[in-house]
Amino acid sequence: MGAYHPECPDRLRAIGDRLISAGLDAYMRHYAAPPATSEQVARVHDRDFIATIEAESPTSGLHFLDPDTAMNAHTLNAARHAAGAVVLATDLLMRGECRTAFCAVRPPGHHAERSRAMGFCLFNNVAVGAAHALAVHGIERVAIVDFDVHHGNGTEDIFAHDPRVLMVSTFQHPMYPYSGLDNPAPNMVNIPLAAGAGGAEFRDAVSLHWLPALERHRPEIIYISAGFDAHREDPLAGLKLVEADYAWVTRELIRVAATHARGRIVSSLEGGYDLSALGRSVAEHIRELIAA
Ligand SMILES: [Zn+2]
Repeated sequence: MGAYHPECPDRLRAIGDRLISAGLDAYMRHYAAPPATSEQVARVHDRDFIATIEAESPTSGLHFLDPDTAMNAHTLNAARHAAGAVVLATDLLMRGECRTAFCAVRPPGHHAERSRAMGFCLFNNVAVGAAHALAVHGIERVAIVDFDVHHGNGTEDIFAHDPRVLMVSTFQHPMYPYSGLDNPAPNMVNIPLAAGAGGAEFRDAVSLHWLPALERHRPEIIYISAGFDAHREDPLAGLKLVEADYAWVTRELIRVAATHARGRIVSSLEGGYDLSALGRSVAEHIRELIAA
C-alpha cells in the first residue's frame, strides 16, 4: 500500500512471531494459499470489475484505487492468493482434513464490494470462500461473522437478500465506511457500537443479537471476518476490546459451530493495525480454534 501505510507486511510477521512465542505454532498445520481462479472470484465480483483491476495493475510504482487503497506490481497476485486461501480452507474443512482454519492474508477483503475495491481491500476473500462452499460443496446455509471495528460493507453488498447467507457484525459507529444502518436486508444483523465501548457492550451485542440469529439460521459452516482493530490499543479506531474478548467470542462461535456446522470455522484476517495487539489477539483467537 506504500510506505507508512498501516496495512503493512509487518502485520503478518507480528502474527507469525507471536504464534511461535506463544507456543501455538507447533499445534498448527501450515498451507500455502493457491491463487483463486477467475471463476471463483467471479462468483462474488462483476467480471467488468475484475477486468478493470487487472488492467490497472501497475508494473512498477503505485496505482491508487481510492485514497486509502493502492496496488503495486504484486498486489493483484497477493489478492488472488488471499481469496484462494479462504477457498483452500473451505476445501480442507469440507474434506474433513481439519475442523478450523485461520487464513493469515493480506490484503483484507470485507470492504470490497461486488464492483468496487476500497478500504485496503481488492477482492472480498471471505465472500469468495463462502460462495465456493455454496456452489461446490452442497452447503445450503453459511454464516459470516464480522467483528472488525469497521462495518463490512462489501460483504453486505454481495450477500444482502441472499437467504442462504446470514451476516452478523459489530462495528464502531459513526466511522468509516459509514454503512450498515440504512435499511439493512433481513439477512444482516448489524450492531453498531459507540466510540469508547468495550468488552461488556460487545459481549451484550453478541449474546443478545448474534447468537439468537445464528441459532435460527443453523449455518453449516461459519466464516469469520476476523479484524482485530477494535482492540483498545489499535490506532485507527476507538473501541476497547482486549484479547480475552476475542477468545470469548471465538468460544461462543465454536459452540454454535459444534451444534450446527460439525465444528467447521474458517477465520480470515481483516484489520488490526497495532502490531503487538494484533499478534496477541490473533494468538488468543487461534488458541481457541486449536482447542475446538
Ligand atoms: Zn477494520
